[in-house]
Amino acid sequence: MEDCLFCRIVAGRIPARKVFEDDEILAFHDINPARPVHLLVIPKRHITSLATVDDADIPVLGRMLAVANRLAAEHGSPDGFRVIINTGRIGHQEVQHLHAHIVGGPDPVGPMLKRI
Ligand code: 5GP
Ligand code: ZN
Repeated sequence: MEDCLFCRIVAGRIPARKVFEDDEILAFHDINPARPVHLLVIPKRHITSLATVDDADIPVLGRMLAVANRLAAEHGSPDGFRVIINTGRIGHQEVQHLHAHIVGGPDPVGPMLKRI
């Protein structure tokens, strides 16, 4: 995926502050953090969003979630964190390569959503 931003990060063509990688996933700091801890975890293989996954993606999805606790603890959110996966237009997904936000820090991140 030549024109995909996160595929370019995976390929090393755009720099990122990487915090973890294995053969299937990569984690790095969000460029515009919303909280003191704001990491992104992505599959290395291009998957557009949670709306396009199938059963073959179950292992990589599990891996993305399984590293969240350790990464949050190592980067300053030892007492919990929030995982957000924005999906599609309704979910306000801006980058069209599946990513899980891990957000946290020393203080609670607040209510899940502003109520309408
Ligand atoms: P979305 O709204 O798609 O769920 O979130 C996309 C996230 O990617 C945003 O939080 C944004 O700050 C982050 N982001 C956008 N471009 C870059 C980039 O070039 N590098 C990094 N590290 N994060 C980026
Ligand atoms: Zn991609």
